[in-house]
Amino acid sequence: MALLYKYQKGETFKQPTVYVSDKVERSYYHPVEKTMHLSPKDAKDKEIVAHEYIHYLQDISGDMHAPVNGPVKVPTIPMTDEASAYYYNRKGLEAQDRIDYIKGIKEFRFVPDDVIYDKEVDNMMYDEPSTIEGSAYKRQKNVADEHPGFQDFYNNFIKRK
Ligand SMILES: [Zn+2]
Repeated sequence: MALLYKYQKGETFKQPTVYVSDKVERSYYHPVEKTMHLSPKDAKDKEIVAHEYIHYLQDISGDMHAPVNGPVKVPTIPMTDEASAYYYNRKGLEAQDRIDYIKGIKEFRFVPDDVIYDKEVDNMMYDEPSTIEGSAYKRQKNVADEHPGFQDFYNNFIKRK
């Protein structure tokens, strides 16, 4: 959170572009475009805004990227914008690891990856602080609470689509 600390001290750095659109069903951060995409409902929720902003900070600090010497396999989770950018976001690899683990259990061997992802892995990762989602989830409340001006801040960057 060093970058947020810099922001608090008044230092400036490049900010993500924020889009609020009712076409967005589930808010996300796009590491290739450096954009945040929020549903109108989520845009009013300071923890969700903080969560997506933490993804931006993870990205520009290098923490979001898949490990260079890690596994080089293509995740088969649903190809959302976020997942299609998996080279730039270790979330895809983290999800596939967990899908593979669950499919190692005999009863789940023939369950499609996307079903395992939707029913189990998606939620599971938010509870694991080592994952990109778990790390953001763990910090979102603090970031939102420590920065009451946070929404005014990001409002400056919002572009409505
Ligand atoms: Zn997230």
